[in-house]
Amino acid sequence: MRQQQYAQSCDNIDHLFYFTLQRMKHIKHKSFWIWSNRFFTVMLFAVLPHFVYAMEDAFLGRWFCDSTLRVDYTFTGDALHQYISLDEIRSSEGWYGRRVNMKVPALRGNGMVKMTDVATGDTLFCTSFSTLFQEWQTTEEATRHSKSFENVFLFPMPRRDAQIEVVLYDTHNRQTARFTHLVTPSDILIRPIDAKHAAPHRSIFKGGDSKGCIDVAIVAEGYTEAERELFYKDAETICREIRRYSPFSEHHNDFNFTAVALESRESGVSIPHEHLWKNTALGASFDTFYSQRYLTTLRLKKLHDSLAGIPYEHIIILANTDNYGGGGIYNSYTLSAAHNPLCLPVTVHEFGHSFGGLGDEYFYDDQYEQFYFPGIEPWEQNLTTLAEFEKKWQDMLPDGTSIPTQCEGLAENDMEHIGVYEGGGYQSKGVYRAFIDCRMKTNNTKRFCAVCERAINRIIAHQTVPMEQSHKR
Ligand SMILES: [Zn+2]
Repeated sequence: MRQQQYAQSCDNIDHLFYFTLQRMKHIKHKSFWIWSNRFFTVMLFAVLPHFVYAMEDAFLGRWFCDSTLRVDYTFTGDALHQYISLDEIRSSEGWYGRRVNMKVPALRGNGMVKMTDVATGDTLFCTSFSTLFQEWQTTEEATRHSKSFENVFLFPMPRRDAQIEVVLYDTHNRQTARFTHLVTPSDILIRPIDAKHAAPHRSIFKGGDSKGCIDVAIVAEGYTEAERELFYKDAETICREIRRYSPFSEHHNDFNFTAVALESRESGVSIPHEHLWKNTALGASFDTFYSQRYLTTLRLKKLHDSLAGIPYEHIIILANTDNYGGGGIYNSYTLSAAHNPLCLPVTVHEFGHSFGGLGDEYFYDDQYEQFYFPGIEPWEQNLTTLAEFEKKWQDMLPDGTSIPTQCEGLAENDMEHIGVYEGGGYQSKGVYRAFIDCRMKTNNTKRFCAVCERAINRIIAHQTVPMEQSHKR
């Protein structure tokens, strides 16, 4: 419906433009005609974006209140089964998620949540995600028993009854679980989240008004009250580093960063392989799924509780430790070790996962587990199995590029020669990447490869620019 409205509106403008040009053809003075033509064209392109934004605001105002609907779910299952259950529905003041392209997710992801209007069946909001639960399902432990994981999703508050659908996909792109439920905005059991209890916080970079910007919260984990200023300093360092990378550097005014000094009772985070356990606000821990460097938290409800009333859409958690590790889950969070010497490149890499939906470009020769399969194209924009390569970076390849592209003669850190290099997504065979090196492959390089840059650029556009304007990026 929205697409049709835009098309009609644009047709009207085109018609007006054409009609005016026809009238101006009667003007005999040639130079005035050229000047007028140019002036009108410039005016048209100056006015059109505002017109499209106004349409987006009208859509938002018609269907939503300026508040957030938070829905907590439990994902349960084992290696073969997935069950989705509703935990609790909550509300908070203000809506800080995207205000454009609300009906379409930027990427497919490993799951999708969609809100539809009950009366009309119209899609109101849709977004995609990945979860730790789905990663856990690929582990050996999941073959022995079932386990539950918290998941939290944010929606703009609908003005009237809405249905929410949650869908999970497996590594073969098959739908494996589907859950729907009704939300009645006047339901007395929707529990308001009291923003008065939000953790201490301060703005550390403001690119603009929250309505037009992407709000990122940088949250403290394992910092005591006495370490609050240390956390703010760490958060500012991370914020500066992310904005140094292209394409964030060209779009830093599209972002706001807020540092949230969530307080922990003990300093540091848990490192099970060192038998070190800490009492921290989010219970973050290394050794996730027995992988020593995999640092995550399972306490998503506590994480979101701490952010009530604070503008946020994306989350970076800084763990107060010098141990090496991190984790990034698409549209969920990035978690990194603030005092490890490799903190900066690791955090940017993990933000590539959680914000950009990028896949890992590194691989293992002895990887026994398969995550990508022949004939099934990954949804991550920087990986391909060549099943649908035309949807990836085929358009960026110079004529005559061999597929696969050979690495011989190129340096280990080469990022100039785009190609289709075999190895990526943890697999040495059957998965391909676009460059020899990239921030999504090693910690040594200084930037994202051109394919990752384009992918991130498209995510930024999806969150800040109406689709009619962003398709050119
Ligand atoms: Zn890349």
